[in-house]
Amino acid sequence: MPSPDPQAIGRAVDARTGFASDLFDAAREASRDVEGVTRPAWSDLDMAVARQVESAALDLGLETRWDPAGNLLATLPGADRRAPQILTGSHVDSVPLGGNFDGHAGVVAALTTLAAYRDLGWTPPCDVTAIAMHGEESVWFATAYLGSKLACGTLPDGDLDRLRRFDTGQTLAECIAGCGVDVDALRAAKPWIDASNTRAFLELHIEQGPILVGAGQPVAIPTAIRGNTRFPDARCFGRYDHSAACPRDFRQDTALATAELISRLEAWWIEQEAAGVPDTVFTVGKLFTDSAEHAMTKVPGRMDFTLNFGGTTDAFLEGSATLTADLAAEIAARRDVRFEIGGRVGSRPTPLDPDVRGALTGAAKVLGMAPLEFATVGHDTAVFAGIGIPAAMILVRNENGSHNPYEAMEIGDFMAGTRTMAAAIAGLAGDPPAPA
Ligand SMILES: [Zn+2]
Repeated sequence: MPSPDPQAIGRAVDARTGFASDLFDAAREASRDVEGVTRPAWSDLDMAVARQVESAALDLGLETRWDPAGNLLATLPGADRRAPQILTGSHVDSVPLGGNFDGHAGVVAALTTLAAYRDLGWTPPCDVTAIAMHGEESVWFATAYLGSKLACGTLPDGDLDRLRRFDTGQTLAECIAGCGVDVDALRAAKPWIDASNTRAFLELHIEQGPILVGAGQPVAIPTAIRGNTRFPDARCFGRYDHSAACPRDFRQDTALATAELISRLEAWWIEQEAAGVPDTVFTVGKLFTDSAEHAMTKVPGRMDFTLNFGGTTDAFLEGSATLTADLAAEIAARRDVRFEIGGRVGSRPTPLDPDVRGALTGAAKVLGMAPLEFATVGHDTAVFAGIGIPAAMILVRNENGSHNPYEAMEIGDFMAGTRTMAAAIAGLAGDPPAPA
């Protein structure tokens, strides 16, 4: 069956605006906190939201099932059931006191897309499946993307019993079991999503930065997911001295030494940008003297800090680590202090698939938008891309960032993003569109 043309898909998506709004409202109601929403991973609250999605999917006549990790799958059957599926979705968990849209927007967009196809009476050539995942937010178990990693088989052995929820102390296995999932079956399960059964993964997500609001555009198609180089436990050791009595030559001032390190790293970052290295970020998230010992009248003898570099090239991420070590050695020798930069953690950058990105960009243009392109932050998409599934994302304009109660995505922008995704998936599914 030829796929409907993008304009018809766009109209069918728009006709489901009330359906999407109702899903957002129901999720907010089920997980409301003193401010915003709280949906811990694998809790009654995020399962309640997943069940709302299941119930809406059943009303649409979709096939639903819960995977071995308790992620919800809702499928619009394709003409060829054995052909690899197209998968789309995101996560239902939120951070504590978070917003209603970070994650859930991608789930609602996926289901709204399937609703529009249903309304058009379209049977796609392959299955199109919406997925609602758990455990994307790293706050709960100090590790991100748990639901997608379980599905793709990339969660390290032992993490089910090793990772503990930060507030209750329960293990990941205990939390999953608490949702009625058979954890023994999960332990025995082979990865159930891979490149042989899934030909593409698409995720709609709110933008968590200010670019779309600033540009006055509703959607962007990310070019890549940034990787990062992080030093979470960096320290500088010197000596406490009397601030008025100690001359400069005798000082071992950790505040000034650390300030120099940071400002020279920033200068390098600015140089890299000027040289055309794309999509770089640099953040000193923590920087403090020891409150038990520090005083306005003491030369500070110790500084603790974190360094966090992000980028889409290995050269930037490796260069940042090398430069940090070189500068620390040079500054330490000159200022008579000692840096312990500590262990490095981080992730590689994830390029997004050019064909899937192209399908999204093309659909947005056909539907009258001028999508921006820039790099984005870590999402479940990185896990699917990491196992070789062609994957891409669409970002929707959203004021006030995310991970807070003040996320402010407009429903009109959400529908623009969902129109784009629905038209792109129909295009990727393979059949030529019907003549307009
Ligand atoms: Zn998210």
